Amino acid sequence: MYPDLQGKAVVVTGSSKGIGAAIALRFAREGANVVVNYNGDAQGAEAVVAQIEAAGAKGVAVQGDMSKEASATGLVQAALDAFGRLDVWVNNAGLEIPAHTHEMTLENWQKIIDVNLTGYFLGARAALQHFVAKGIKGSIINMSSVHEQIPWPRFAHYAASKGGVKLLNETMAMEYAPQGIRVNAIGPGAINTPINKEKMNDPAQKAALEAIIPMGFAGEPETIAAAAAWLASDQASYVTGITLFVDGGMTLYPAFMNNG
Ligand code: NAD
Repeated sequence: MYPDLQGKAVVVTGSSKGIGAAIALRFAREGANVVVNYNGDAQGAEAVVAQIEAAGAKGVAVQGDMSKEASATGLVQAALDAFGRLDVWVNNAGLEIPAHTHEMTLENWQKIIDVNLTGYFLGARAALQHFVAKGIKGSIINMSSVHEQIPWPRFAHYAASKGGVKLLNETMAMEYAPQGIRVNAIGPGAINTPINKEKMNDPAQKAALEAIIPMGFAGEPETIAAAAAWLASDQASYVTGITLFVDGGMTLYPAFMNNG
């Protein structure tokens, strides 16, 4: 537990389910109040708000397509209206649409880049504008992926977006370090969420995936939420510009496991 998070206000984009929902709930359990952003799933977002309130914190569900400029400023305003402050911004909304590169449509390329990369810029920019204007030593967390480092056939747009997030993260961390604003990323490996439900429900695909995880199993969203809480807390007060991989060792060249 991180007592300094008590009473803080956190925005988590794309938090009606999956990793975002787990992060929203973890912050609530730390005593922080949370803006739960969703795009289409109002019901999921309301269910997360109910869990936040059951944990003793305050939550508010706010619709917003994070690829749109007005959504980010709208979420800052929602945090100020509901909680009177904003301390932590988590860029988490993301999606994947598999396709071989030669068959990838420009429309789908653009869709992934708009949400996974441009959306992170827009979210971080809105939070930074508030932090800078008010002199707040806020914290920004960007949900990257092991695919900011590992190439991924059929996911060129996704890997490009996460590679972009890596340098966006590092550049903003450097740029705002003098103001005490920390910017960090988390690089999840394979995590059990709706994004890869299909893969995890197919025994052959599940086994193939587990074979490239040295620890041998997929992670749970709560392990990512734990990393987010730590990064936002004062315990990480001297940490900025990193990607914290939470991946069971997936980035450790698992093919070398039995090679030598
Ligand atoms: P998920 O599909 O369960 O959740 C993604 C969330 O983003 C959903 O709530 C979705 O509605 C929301 N979203 C999508 N487009 C949006 C938009 N335009 N505006 C607002 N919200 C939008 O997936 P997840 O696994 O929880 O993924 C969360 C983040 O973690 C993503 O950025 C993803 O790339 C990253 N990630 C996930 C894994 C994994 O194995 N699950 C691994 C690495 C990285």
